[in-house]
Amino acid sequence: METKLSIYNTLSKKKEAFAPHNPPLVGMYVCGPTVYGDPHLGHARPAISFDLVFRYLQHLEYKVRYVRNITDVGHLENDADEGEDKIAKKARLEELEPMEVVQYYTNSYHSAMRKLNVLDPSIEPNASGHIIEQMEMIRKILETGYAYESAGSVYFDVEKYNESNPYGILSGRKVEELIATTRELDGQQEKKNSYDFALWKKAAPEHIMRWPSEWSDGFPGWHMECSAMGTRYLGEEFDIHGGGMDLLFPHHESEIAQSVAANGKMPVKYWMHNNMITINGQKMGKSLGNAVSLEEFFNGNNKLLAQAYSPMTIRFFIMQAHYRSTLDFSNEALQAAEKGFQRLMAALEVLAKLQPGSGGQSVDISKLQEKCYEAMNDDFNSPILIAHLFDGVKIINSINDGKMVIDEANLSLLRDVYSTFVYEILGFQDEAVADNNGDDLSSQLIDTLISLRQEAKANKDFATADKIRDRLTSIGVTLKDTKDGVDWNL
Ligand code: ZN
Repeated sequence: METKLSIYNTLSKKKEAFAPHNPPLVGMYVCGPTVYGDPHLGHARPAISFDLVFRYLQHLEYKVRYVRNITDVGHLENDADEGEDKIAKKARLEELEPMEVVQYYTNSYHSAMRKLNVLDPSIEPNASGHIIEQMEMIRKILETGYAYESAGSVYFDVEKYNESNPYGILSGRKVEELIATTRELDGQQEKKNSYDFALWKKAAPEHIMRWPSEWSDGFPGWHMECSAMGTRYLGEEFDIHGGGMDLLFPHHESEIAQSVAANGKMPVKYWMHNNMITINGQKMGKSLGNAVSLEEFFNGNNKLLAQAYSPMTIRFFIMQAHYRSTLDFSNEALQAAEKGFQRLMAALEVLAKLQPGSGGQSVDISKLQEKCYEAMNDDFNSPILIAHLFDGVKIINSINDGKMVIDEANLSLLRDVYSTFVYEILGFQDEAVADNNGDDLSSQLIDTLISLRQEAKANKDFATADKIRDRLTSIGVTLKDTKDGVDWNL
């Protein structure tokens, strides 16, 4: 399979022609959320950026195995080796079992992603479900001599590794610089060097998320899960690894070191990193990032928001910037995105009604199609693609106004270009249609269930009739028997 796709590789720091290990198979791993809070704009950006990659690779007829993990253990505060586990802390504060926290925020993440029309990954593994794989990999690293045990914990020996393999190959950091910049923290006397990172941590007595091992009752270090689960599902060498730029160091740098130490080879061919969201030019901090959840964007219930913004407005806002560029949040920018999206959708309505004309030279759409592909092939350049689609909107309006003529073949190509790039690749949805269809379908399903219940009653099968009523009640549908049949309320 040959394509003209080129991808900017953070490892080589240049664009490279895309050539997967075993085409048409593509293995892609993206670091997913740590599930201890409501999903926010910072979660939407990587999810949507790599959804675009997933969609486009599939459009190019690659068979993609897309793994996006759920971090539910081992991610300590401040992304360091010290401090409380983020999920355990939330569980303690809310008086919940840690897995209740994990389930609750995994559900809210999924709900937000579906609204944003982000496709489900092929596999969504949890770190806590892969402790055995992580322990296996730690044993391999101990065997190759790149890790050491200390007081029940296991640490990666960065200095030893760096003698034969450059540590910092991805982030451009040098071990000598790390010495100067790593803070001395309590408990670091366990480590040979302050920049060594934990593969396994002995759990403090109050630490509730713990597993038995030959080293101690403890838990894996945060970086272990992605190395172990990537290897498990995609093999020792796979094609694409993605995530936010904030994960470049130490998370992805450490992933490379762990895989090289355990398997003796570089795990990933193309490293892809999406840039961050800024607010009025400043890096988005926890103050806003976590204060406005995606759900609040959708319903407008936050004083920082001038209005509610629909999921497709958020998606359009993110797609309007290239994934490697910063994206500046403001109400004005989102309002502009809302207008832009509506303009695009309005043009699609006009396009649906256009008729082929005669009496003049037809406009040629093949150039537009070519430019759209060129934009996507150039490292998934969605803003350039969207600009070409808006050039096409001018053509659509000119044909509609009778200023241009289009023949049947070009009209069919124009419709194909818009349905391919707008819906299939950019993943936009016509929100009015999506809502109505959803409502209609729900109503029809409820009516179907009610008629099944009526049939059961008529057959004197009251157990089934009651079961249907109870199930409907449990999802919030209340039934009222009337003279004329059954009324229901949601
Ligand atoms: Zn990761």
